[in-house]
Amino acid sequence: MQPALTSISTRRLLARVRDVMAGSAAAQVRLNEITAIIAAEMSADVCSIYVRRAGDVLELFATQGLKPQAVHRTRLRLGEGLVGDIAANARPLAISDAHNHPQFAFRPETGEEVFRSLMGVPILRDGKVLGTLAMQKTERYQFTEEEVEVLQTVAMVVAEMVAGGELVGRDELLPADGIGLLPLRIRGMRLNGGMAMGQAVLHQHEVKIDRLVAEDPVAEQRRLSRALADMHTALDRLFQESLLPGYGEHREVLEAYRMFAEDAGWLQRIREAIATGLTAEAGVKKVQSDLRLRMAQVPDPYLRERVHDLEDLANRLLHHLTGANGIVSAAASPVTEMVLIARSMGPAELLDYDLARLRALVLEEGSHASHVAVIARALDIPVVGHARDVLLRIEENDLVIVDGDNAQVFLRPGEDVVATFHESIEARRQRAAGYAALRDLPATTCDGEHVSVNINVGLLGDVQHLDHWGADGIGLYRTEVPFMVRAGFPDVESQCELYAKVLDQAAGRPVVFRTLDVGGDKMLPYWKPAPEENPAMGWRAIRVSLDRPAMLRQQMRALIRAAGGRELRLMFPMVADVSEFEAARSLLGMELAREERRGGILPASLKVGAMLEVPSLAFQLRALLAKVDFISVGSNDLLQFLFGCDRGNPRLSERYDPLSPLVLAFLRNVLTECRAARVPVGLCGEMAGRPLEAMALIGIGYRDLSVAPPAVGPLKAMIRSLDCQALRRYVESLYDLPDHNVRERLRSFARDHGVAL
Ligand code: PEP
Ligand code: MG
Repeated sequence: MQPALTSISTRRLLARVRDVMAGSAAAQVRLNEITAIIAAEMSADVCSIYVRRAGDVLELFATQGLKPQAVHRTRLRLGEGLVGDIAANARPLAISDAHNHPQFAFRPETGEEVFRSLMGVPILRDGKVLGTLAMQKTERYQFTEEEVEVLQTVAMVVAEMVAGGELVGRDELLPADGIGLLPLRIRGMRLNGGMAMGQAVLHQHEVKIDRLVAEDPVAEQRRLSRALADMHTALDRLFQESLLPGYGEHREVLEAYRMFAEDAGWLQRIREAIATGLTAEAGVKKVQSDLRLRMAQVPDPYLRERVHDLEDLANRLLHHLTGANGIVSAAASPVTEMVLIARSMGPAELLDYDLARLRALVLEEGSHASHVAVIARALDIPVVGHARDVLLRIEENDLVIVDGDNAQVFLRPGEDVVATFHESIEARRQRAAGYAALRDLPATTCDGEHVSVNINVGLLGDVQHLDHWGADGIGLYRTEVPFMVRAGFPDVESQCELYAKVLDQAAGRPVVFRTLDVGGDKMLPYWKPAPEENPAMGWRAIRVSLDRPAMLRQQMRALIRAAGGRELRLMFPMVADVSEFEAARSLLGMELAREERRGGILPASLKVGAMLEVPSLAFQLRALLAKVDFISVGSNDLLQFLFGCDRGNPRLSERYDPLSPLVLAFLRNVLTECRAARVPVGLCGEMAGRPLEAMALIGIGYRDLSVAPPAVGPLKAMIRSLDCQALRRYVESLYDLPDHNVRERLRSFARDHGVAL
């Protein structure tokens, strides 16, 4: 068996590949030579390069060891065979007995039946798979991790050649439908609402690297240190000079970003890559693509999002290393109404652009937890994420309409779409003016029933919506959100400061703080519990808090101190039975006693509630109601558990309807018991934010709703047009129906009774 390659022999291999690439021979000749060098240096019997062609086909472009006549004849579909699997999943494979692997796809023309073991890595560039680089040996052989690493490094060098367009025209990698410059609509995920139109500015962070292989590793390490120092100085300036508001969680996001830049593990990996013979910039790129690969397999969306921060940093560092001042060149675009299009983005990259000209943001990736989405929300621009292949389908300066509310993007819209856009902007303006006029009016029905309309918030910046939308209070303050955007667990003092600010801004209006609801899809970046098969039903919310009481007690301490002399309302998420509530309540008692002992000012009054989001609790409601001050129904989780249907699964999102008679009957029973026990009950899930659903809830008898801030206006308009008595009688007739949903029936009621939906 051959020993793994040392860093000296890796350097020699890289240097030889570089010399061939820089040569003047035809591309095919150079590629053949490269396979020969890799096979010789890595003691393999075969080295083959498969290049991705149009139609998602991998074509054998060069080989050392397989039959030469198979070159340009052997083709595999993406995902077919081991070579196809490597490209489809963008991950390396090392298999000692490839023949017996279920995915092995035998191609007789290659003569590969004599080769047993196989190792292959994807040829990646800027997150795109350009092909597969594979090695084979006749004997069974267990390739080592080091060998995989070396082949990845070589693949990176080969990627430059493939991307250069000498082997396959660049346009072959574009999807078939994209390039006709026809109008196109792309659906995505709503990351921030609103509508905007502008010209496309493509945020391509492709940094051209001329030198991949270094002569002098020590000099490269020095270059890296210099570039890092320059980058830190430039970042300080960028954050200071940005147009962002002076306070709010986006500041935390930028702090977290700055800490990533000092991540010792990241820097160490770059330094190690440089030690193998890469230049500083190639080292940064290598670590960037390794990270992308590894993170693509991490199920936690929060952690996956953090890759974008590191990518942002890596790109910035590359700019400093290649002498482009650390500024993305697209940021210099002269376009006056910019719609920024990116695969992904870190928060600081967004700040490179002139925010005064930025109208909207479209991302191929991204999620609510993306730091860039937090920043974009602070700027109040529409953002659509998960816009598939948008970068491939658009050209610089194309006209784009972004409809954040409906999560869609129109590329090169026709005149009719543009006209509709202008109409909807006008209609939105009129509706907004109508809602603004309702701002200071109460949400009272025509027959005099008052409904308390509150807002759900998570970021400090959202609290200002109380005044803007004229809400009665904050029905749900998701305390985990500020924890999620930070780089580390906030101590009691900083939590206290934050909660006090929330209460100050609420200026006497009620605020319900929900204790930490982490776990499930809400992971903290600095806290890594063991992976779970079923996280939504796993170790989350109050379960975590009760198992880690110190964390909950710190949070309670901070809340008690923040409220000192004012009213404090808090509630616990995901309570499944009374004992959980009691346990959490008794911890609160301890914290109150502690504060009293230390002579602190206690809250002027205290209200402690439970969220009803696990159906089991409904069967112990009577016992619970004797102990709580209020109940808040979390319909998002409640419906997920009632129907046994993952709330985040887009395939199931339309399958069950909150306006099902069984849901209405369930909610009616909860309300009846709460009323009998004289315990206030509200509902704070998404369903309350949609006027038709909210109307049904009011018909059942709910008088306390908490919704996303932009829903307040439409809800008030609906409520003020409502005849509550007639609605109650009508809803009474729905509970026992066998229907899948009663949506149409409720719509007809609204139409017949002039309800403003
Ligand atoms: C809910 O589950 O309805 C709820 C309001 O909590 P979250 O959406 O934060 O889980
Ligand atoms: Mg919930």
